Amino acid sequence: MYLFGLSTYFRLKRNLRRPLEELKREQWESFKALVYYAYYNVPFYRKLYDQVGFHPQELKSRDDIQKVPLIRKALFQDTELQDCLALGHDADKLRKKKTSGSSGSPLEIFVTPDDRIYRTLIHLRILFHNGMTLRDQMAHISDDRHVPDFRYTFQNLGFLPKEFVYAADSPEDQLANLKKIDPAVIYSYSSSMVLLADEIKKLGSCPVSPRLVFTTGELLNSADRDLINEQFGVQLRDIYGCVEMGDIAWQCSEVAGYHVSIDSFLFEAAQDGQPVESGEEGRLVITNLHSKAMPFIRYEVGDVVTAPEEDLCSCGCTFPRMKMLQGRADDWLYRPDRTKVSPLIFVVASIRGVRQYRMIQKAFDHLIVEILPGKYFDEATLPEVSKHVTEVMGDGVKIETKAVETIPQQAGKMRRVISEIPKDNKL
Ligand SMILES: [Zn+2]
Repeated sequence: MYLFGLSTYFRLKRNLRRPLEELKREQWESFKALVYYAYYNVPFYRKLYDQVGFHPQELKSRDDIQKVPLIRKALFQDTELQDCLALGHDADKLRKKKTSGSSGSPLEIFVTPDDRIYRTLIHLRILFHNGMTLRDQMAHISDDRHVPDFRYTFQNLGFLPKEFVYAADSPEDQLANLKKIDPAVIYSYSSSMVLLADEIKKLGSCPVSPRLVFTTGELLNSADRDLINEQFGVQLRDIYGCVEMGDIAWQCSEVAGYHVSIDSFLFEAAQDGQPVESGEEGRLVITNLHSKAMPFIRYEVGDVVTAPEEDLCSCGCTFPRMKMLQGRADDWLYRPDRTKVSPLIFVVASIRGVRQYRMIQKAFDHLIVEILPGKYFDEATLPEVSKHVTEVMGDGVKIETKAVETIPQQAGKMRRVISEIPKDNKL
């Protein structure tokens, strides 16, 4: 295992500085090979591609990528698990991961032991490229679920030392634990770091002096990012990923955009299924090029990004950079008790039959949800949307769902959440 890990790691590390054209050529070859593999080995893809009349032979150039149907989480959820797995793979012998309930109904993901190591190596590559060393003490601010109950041999030898701080503890307790650990590196959910930075600001001094802070999980707004940087005395680096894929894009010392790991994923930004030009906004569509047990091909993640730009970064990495824009154009919603609801919580786009959506809050107790019907839209779609929105907003809010023919854009932005409550009325 270690030999596989080491040789793969050095290959991944070399990729960071290889010519972009060379990497893109390999990316395209890997993509084609994966589509062929999925067509002949994964019943889910065979059925889907046959249904729309697509055959992998049609992939002659990059422009043909659009011919491969997009998939969404809901499509997987509607399919028998065994049909989502490649032939020869048995769910009992694979590692299981589960998307969290907070991002909608959970989806089970299955990876081979080698895939799992590969994910870890991609993660480590990001940390090392940002200056972490093998001996740096890390504090991982995490919920219980992610704490492993064993230590690797190399950790017992003093490499990659890691201690956990529980995010569910009070900010005071977390800071006391951090002080004991005295970490050089902190890795944490973004929201946990915001709470800790708030606490440090109240205290007037920071009990630790990490050299590096990595955040992940939720996109930070610039005020929260500034708060963390100021209170911890760092310039944090954010990592973008999801349970389905692992870490997929990340910030470097430049902290300008997110490098996309094009040796492991194929990224697209699309509007209405069509790719947008470099630098323009679209919804993120990802193909995981390194997962063979349960392939994800043209998986619509739904976050709004700019299509990767290929300008050279001063950190030396040749991977293009994209910007994450999710939430930027969206308003907050408010419950009748005036508590704020993040637009990121809603997973309306993952509901079967929904192509696009828009929510308009007319009053604290009145919300309109417009749905642009997708291919699988039927009589169950609107009630399902209504149920999900009610779950998030709580009782006492009138949820009006309706199917519409178009969803207007405002100044070219896809605003999914619009609040018509006057600013003065919000607390
Ligand atoms: Zn860079």
